[in-house]
Amino acid sequence: MGFKVYINGKLFEKENAKISVFDHGLLYGDGVFEGIRSYNCLVFKLKEHIDRLYESAQSIMLNVPLSKQEMIAAVVKTLKANKLKDAYIRLIVTRGEGDLGLDPRKCKRSCVIMITDKIVLYPEKLYKQGLKIITVPTVRNLPEALNPQIKSLNYLNNILAKIEAINAGYEEAIMMNSLGYVAECTGDNIFIVKKGRLYTPPQCMGSLRGITRDEVLKISAKLKIAAHEQILTRHELFIADEVFLTGTAVEIIPAVGIDGRTIGNGKPGKLTLKFISEFRKSTKSNGVKYTIS
Ligand code: PMP
Repeated sequence: MGFKVYINGKLFEKENAKISVFDHGLLYGDGVFEGIRSYNCLVFKLKEHIDRLYESAQSIMLNVPLSKQEMIAAVVKTLKANKLKDAYIRLIVTRGEGDLGLDPRKCKRSCVIMITDKIVLYPEKLYKQGLKIITVPTVRNLPEALNPQIKSLNYLNNILAKIEAINAGYEEAIMMNSLGYVAECTGDNIFIVKKGRLYTPPQCMGSLRGITRDEVLKISAKLKIAAHEQILTRHELFIADEVFLTGTAVEIIPAVGIDGRTIGNGKPGKLTLKFISEFRKSTKSNGVKYTIS
């Protein structure tokens, strides 16, 4: 059985799920998206993802033709139609079909797409051993040019950084901003642990306000672990006791090597493991429930 894809209120078999080649999402990356996960029939932090989607859309003056409630209902409908208990959900809103020019006024109707799929995880081995990653030359988009808070369909900035990491033989890249400070990874936020405290770059350094990042900050408050949004340099990464990355798809994954330096003792740290287990607990209760018949 093929997966069903939601396009503008209707469900299509994957083979028949098609949009126009004149869609400005394709021609110009003119649109916004969210990556969401469901765990055992619970869409984790769905309201937070929907809020961020609408904020991205508001910022680029993109009309979302559904209310937030209708959008939540459509996500649930798509998951149910695909009988998926555990899923990765890609929610996309594009400017819609226009002509070959940039003019967004030519796009009369924005296009809402939802693709649900089985979740593909990094191998468990990497969570146990940790990742080795590198900083790369491509800097994160300037907030004054294209603000990283806008989760737009134009991910070329991140893809270039990913290519640089892959070319160097690594799976993930740390992106700096134009001032040389740490921003984030290509699809994840970054945290360091130093002397029992947690640090992550503030948004103005060029990172997306990740929903997993927010949850980690919430967990740290619950565990009474001091957490700071602070400007970080490469040096601070290199001398950290622990480093981990956070994101919807990856959840929390340890990083044990950066630019050839060993982080801590080269193994996932105690606090990182604590955050992984607390985060996994929180995925069981924070979200929108649905049922599959
Ligand atoms: N940074 C970037 C650039 C991302 O694309 C993502 C994934 N959406 C994240 C960080 C992590 O955000 P979240 O925890 O909301 O998935």
